[in-house]
Amino acid sequence: MSHLFTSARWWRDGSSCNLHVSTDGKVTYRGPDEPFADDETDLQGAFILPGFVDCHCHILATGLDLQKLDLTGCASREGVLDRVRERAAVTLEYGWLLAVQYDQTRFEDGRHLTADELETATNGLPAILRHTSGHACIANRTAVDLADTSDEKSGEIVRDEAGIPTGVLLEKAMQAVYRLLPKPTRQEMSDAILAAAQRMSGMGITSAADMGSTHDLEDQIWAYRNAAERGARLRMRLYPNWSQVFKSKIDLAELLPPSPMLRIGGVKLYADGAIGAATAATYEEFTVGGTGQLMYPAEELQRRVSIADEAGYSIAIHSIGDRSTDVVLDALASTRDPSRHRIEHAMILSDAQIARIVALGVCVSMQPEFLLRFDHAYKRQLGDERASRLKRVRSLLDAGVALGFSSDTPIVPGNPWDGIRMATEHPTEAIAYDEAVDLYTRGAAALDDDEDFGRLDLMQFADFQVYAENPREQPSPGPRLVAFEGITAAPSSHGAEA
Ligand SMILES: [Zn+2]
Repeated sequence: MSHLFTSARWWRDGSSCNLHVSTDGKVTYRGPDEPFADDETDLQGAFILPGFVDCHCHILATGLDLQKLDLTGCASREGVLDRVRERAAVTLEYGWLLAVQYDQTRFEDGRHLTADELETATNGLPAILRHTSGHACIANRTAVDLADTSDEKSGEIVRDEAGIPTGVLLEKAMQAVYRLLPKPTRQEMSDAILAAAQRMSGMGITSAADMGSTHDLEDQIWAYRNAAERGARLRMRLYPNWSQVFKSKIDLAELLPPSPMLRIGGVKLYADGAIGAATAATYEEFTVGGTGQLMYPAEELQRRVSIADEAGYSIAIHSIGDRSTDVVLDALASTRDPSRHRIEHAMILSDAQIARIVALGVCVSMQPEFLLRFDHAYKRQLGDERASRLKRVRSLLDAGVALGFSSDTPIVPGNPWDGIRMATEHPTEAIAYDEAVDLYTRGAAALDDDEDFGRLDLMQFADFQVYAENPREQPSPGPRLVAFEGITAAPSSHGAEA
């Protein structure tokens, strides 16, 4: 059935906008006229925008995190312990106390909790507090005692002078405790994906790319297919971890035939860590000392990139520090077409690196909302001056780099309007409102290789969101309506969250 949405106003200039959508969900007219349609919806002067595209987030993890203790806003060790104590008092399904958004950089002295301090609040339960960066965690003494802490192959199990683990686990060493957790079933994962899709749709997001894969890949793909079949209100693109794709010899094309709603987008690789955990690989030292760590030696990254490139995948590489990004650019330079591949984050960039990104045609995915949530951590780890030069959006746009915005939720709450606002308020690299919205719609879609939505142009899919008030004047509004490919839904209350 064709559909005409009438009396909308176009987001860029407020001009009168009617949208005619054909039976296959594509835009067949956009403008002031009213072509005939089988059905009609009066949008009553609301503002219409393309749906947001979040080209780097963690859909499944977002859904699973909705069930964990959220430590957002805890600015002292005592504050964290109080929340943990409350949670420990109620019975937990798996017998583990799991929390997210722990952030020691908010404490006055920046010192981590210790395993023994945490133990005092956990009522005998094993407990893990995941750092807000996702690159570190704190385990209590019970969890540390359950874990095998002798086989740290990579990352770091931090120890005191006597060699006893302090409870702080960095990067891959976090697996020592996370591997002990009961795994979610396929059905639980599907439920989590549905919950996350609903939350994201409530923020006006119509397409999202899930970066990486932490559970069994076949189970995970089953869960995504199941969630899509059950009507998840989100287009989903999956970028499983390189090692899962190439070490298990899974035939992804067979496991997941591509569709406009759900398909494999590429593979994910990590080149370094994060600034908050001082594990990003930088040239200049962190204020806490050290220059971070590369995930692999350059030759190994090169080898992995070559294998993925030869198998025809688009490669998305996590790289935050400038030292890491040079290694990544070296590896991508050897691919057949570097413009098919992406750097995720690229937080610290020199002018020379931007010029090299342009010359190679490599794409960049950035998360402006980080500047809102982690400003305090960046200043602490890098000093004010270096922190003010992170995420060089203005320079990348001026240089003509293929750039797209994303959130990395659940690392941050992930409301695109918060990212857009931060990009327009960047201390040294501010961009205009229209540019920021464009990067969170068309720009992000292009990075996922989706050319058939993101602009509401003719013959594109009619993925859109609608606001009663002009979002240009309302900093973080929630959409009144989100629609795409035959799925139209009033968003839940999540959309209005600040
Ligand atoms: Zn991520």
